[in-house]
Amino acid sequence: MADTTSDVLVIGAGLHGLSTAFHLARRGIKVTVLEADYAGRHASGVNAGGVRTLGRHLAEIPLSLASREIWHNLPELLGDDASFVASGQLKLAESEAELAQCQMRVAELQANGFTHEVLIDRAEVFELLPTVAPHVVGGIWVADDGYAVPYRVVTAVRRAAQRLGVVVHEQTPALAITQKASRWHVSTPKGRFEADHLIVTAGAWAGRLAADIGEPVPTYPQGLMLMVTHRVAPFCKQVLGATGRALSFKQFDNGTVVIGGKLIGDLDFDTRHGEVDITRLITSALTVTDLFPHLKHLGINRAWAGIEAFTQDDLPVISHSLRASGLTYSFGYCGSGFQMSLGTGERVAQLVLGESSSIDLAAFAIDRFNLDSSILMASKEPSCNQSLESKPTSA
Ligand SMILES: Cc1cc2nc3c(=O)[nH]c(=O)nc-3n(C[C@H](O)[C@H](O)[C@H](O)COP(=O)(O)OP(=O)(O)OC[C@H]3O[C@@H](n4cnc5c(N)ncnc54)[C@H](O)[C@@H]3O)c2cc1C
Repeated sequence: MADTTSDVLVIGAGLHGLSTAFHLARRGIKVTVLEADYAGRHASGVNAGGVRTLGRHLAEIPLSLASREIWHNLPELLGDDASFVASGQLKLAESEAELAQCQMRVAELQANGFTHEVLIDRAEVFELLPTVAPHVVGGIWVADDGYAVPYRVVTAVRRAAQRLGVVVHEQTPALAITQKASRWHVSTPKGRFEADHLIVTAGAWAGRLAADIGEPVPTYPQGLMLMVTHRVAPFCKQVLGATGRALSFKQFDNGTVVIGGKLIGDLDFDTRHGEVDITRLITSALTVTDLFPHLKHLGINRAWAGIEAFTQDDLPVISHSLRASGLTYSFGYCGSGFQMSLGTGERVAQLVLGESSSIDLAAFAIDRFNLDSSILMASKEPSCNQSLESKPTSA
């Protein structure tokens, strides 16, 4: 059996777990990652690939901007560009009222010292995107945003972490977690792993683990859907969103168009399976054809749903435990955690190492929730009985 002791044990090999492991290993920390399925099997590997600082909650902006620095320096950091394209992201205003909303947003950001979102008028939109429908009146533009192919990012971060000595155990779900003295013990079907510090980055399943440990963070899972069209001649270089309706839209180099925008599908949480609801996809398809009427007859190639963790206030949990020493959480990214993963991993590593940073994490602390649980660490041997069955998505 492989070495089962390390300095830090990470539960979940999505991008947040892998990025945190990578940043810790860069600092000489011995890290083991346990993954129930395979690395990137869930949200991190099946998302829309949007690398977006645009439209973020104010509290997330410093972390998101720190992540952006990393996205622009991936070859230096990982030895791989991980497919990142700095295409820019554009949020379209389809009426004067929406343009006024965009103006207010940019003014609010500027009042808080952020200048990355830029208001643009109709002429500037058409200069960037000549093919868009004529009713568009302006929007918000972020030139340094872009997109990447999720599985390539997962693979690049994972390989970089492994080169630094991180060990990733796939098909190794954490089934029970206990703390004895100050040391963490995690039982899996492949044996028991031990470490001084435990990090929970288990995405949609992290809330269940936290509850088993005695901290019932109010999170809920949702299935988010995407669809991909057949190929079409190049007509759009940027990643697009809309102001008045949900939209996330990009055309890849091969001509296919990926369409999403927090479209809620169905899910079977226990079997870890997201399910597409075609009727709800129609809304997004109609938004796209309103904006690009020439796509009306374009066929859909495939659609899928991934499972993501949401919180009550739409902000993630990035925090030390309130109840136990040597325990840190990073989960609940509410449909926007792909872009944040690279910078957040670095910040979580700093948190674990007890270092301070200019990025304040107070808005993400676990104590913002009312954790009215009487379960105490000392009195509980939790069992996280998570189902291992993993069905492929319809992708
Ligand atoms: C369809 C879709 C589109 C999206 N589009 C975007 C986008 O364009 N831009 C953006 O920024 N964000 C986007 N997101 C959000 C983003 O993908 C997520 O916020 C991010 O990937 C979350 O990463 P994670 O590491 O926290 O979780 P995950 O990637 O879900 O990783 C958690 C891992 O933990 C594992 N795990 C769970 N329980 C256990 C256990 N007991 N033991 C061991 N392992 C366990 C799981 O198997 C999983 O692999 C999208 C999400 C979806 C679903």
